[in-house]
Amino acid sequence: MKRQKMDWVDEEKKRRDSGHKRPLLQTEHWAMNTRYPGETLEYCCDCNQPTGRAGKAEDSLYTEDDDGPYCWDCWERLGHNA
Ligand SMILES: [Zn+2]
Repeated sequence: MKRQKMDWVDEEKKRRDSGHKRPLLQTEHWAMNTRYPGETLEYCCDCNQPTGRAGKAEDSLYTEDDDGPYCWDCWERLGHNA
């Protein structure tokens, strides 16, 4: 099997696997998820369920104290309003 040179998607995946996540652009999410399905799903910091949101730079739910991201259920349960 021919080994392919690593490109930025592989590099990013490697970084994420080692715990260094960064906000991604929508196009980057798309590229990541195309190669690694579900890779860039965002998980709630409280219940660990997918938030269904796209990242801090997008529509993710963060408190004013920068806690998050939260899923909608936890967000509401904690008394936040959108
Ligand atoms: Zn939650």
